[in-house]
Amino acid sequence: MLRASSELAARMKEAEGFNAWACFHCGTCTALCPLGYEILPRKLFREAMLGLEDRVRASIPQIFSCLLCRMCEENCPAEVHIAENIRTLRYLINRQEFGLK
Ligand code: SF4
Ligand code: SF4
Repeated sequence: MLRASSELAARMKEAEGFNAWACFHCGTCTALCPLGYEILPRKLFREAMLGLEDRVRASIPQIFSCLLCRMCEENCPAEVHIAENIRTLRYLINRQEFGLK
């Protein structure tokens, strides 16, 4: 059973610069990503925004494998700041999972 965390969802809403709300799941970013299907930004963002903590935790290897190269952002029709959003996810994970500030 999926466990949703309203706290995680709230933190994503409050995170400065996080703009994945505009994503409409077109998949263009994945087509351009050098890591291909190893990392699916639209899936990562959706899970985080819904507060699906277990799924976010399961995606930690993908979240930390992103190269932050921004190739995905070049043709994002919704102008989602993908790399920056992933950086925000990492920050929140570091705080929550590892107690880092
Ligand atoms: S290219 Fe932009 S709108 Fe399309 S799935 Fe990726 S983040 Fe979402
Ligand atoms: S920033 Fe991350 S998700 Fe975007 S293309 Fe580069 S490796 Fe892929």
